[in-house]
Amino acid sequence: MSDAKAEIKPTQKISAKVWDENAVPRHRIQWCPGCGDFGVLASLKMALTKLEVTPYEVMLVGGIGCSGQIRNYLNGNAFHGTHGGALAYALGAKMANPNLKVITLAGDGDTFAIGVENFVHVCRRDPEIMLVIMDNGVYGLTKGQHSPTHGRGMNIKEWSEESPPPFSPLRLAMTAGCTFVAQSFSGDPKHSAEVYVEAMQHKGFAMVNDFSPCVTYNKFNTYEWYKEHVEEIPAGHDPSNTDAAWELLNDFDRRERLPLGIVYRNPRHKKAAKRLPIWTEELQQADVKPLLQMFR
Ligand code: SF4
Ligand code: MG
Repeated sequence: MSDAKAEIKPTQKISAKVWDENAVPRHRIQWCPGCGDFGVLASLKMALTKLEVTPYEVMLVGGIGCSGQIRNYLNGNAFHGTHGGALAYALGAKMANPNLKVITLAGDGDTFAIGVENFVHVCRRDPEIMLVIMDNGVYGLTKGQHSPTHGRGMNIKEWSEESPPPFSPLRLAMTAGCTFVAQSFSGDPKHSAEVYVEAMQHKGFAMVNDFSPCVTYNKFNTYEWYKEHVEEIPAGHDPSNTDAAWELLNDFDRRERLPLGIVYRNPRHKKAAKRLPIWTEELQQADVKPLLQMFR
């Protein structure tokens, strides 16, 4: 990683097409037709193009699951970690090279079940990383078992051992101290792209929970269901006010609606470098050749 900074090429003219280079031809997209992850991919391309970053400056860290495939379909440096570990690898990449724009792309099962401890502690550490969660309420890759967000909107009076009540990613993020908490819907990629642009410019850890319907295994939380239940956050909401953010969540829950947009944003004043150990100097001394040899 110590050389990654040197590898960043001078800014080139960025067009939306640059995000397909080196990606789509090598990796045939394996998602089911209509999968919500297509919308997330389109939004990421729009946001990165708008910010005029180059693929050399981007580090994509994917989790395990259908969602984790997204890093194959987008140009840029990429790393595929273990289940639940994506945020830990992303944190390591950011510490090794703070100049990289680190984007973590993971599913709801990956982030909020096996990976929940990484999520909570990355919220506390507040590195400059964007996390997009492709939230579909199921484990799509392993044929649709219930994830921690399964059951959203279902009128079930008695939850069972197999199907405990879903929890709110937004409330967990707020409680864990996340400094940018937002939600989007892949059925509205332009709006999602606007949220991603704000998230990528945040000087701390930014979580975007993106509703990304699994058309194959979640027949309840469909595009139509989301269209009936999502609602943009009112323009008058002050995301810098913690009390207002909690009240907004309470109001949406009371009305059984799902907020889209930025719920909470803490204006960061302290540089990320002051909050995180940065290892660039130590890594420049490190000899990684023996380690790389192990993978030959
Ligand atoms: Fe998408 Fe679900 Fe198909 Fe996976 S199984 S690609 S999440 S629609
Ligand atoms: Mg999922």
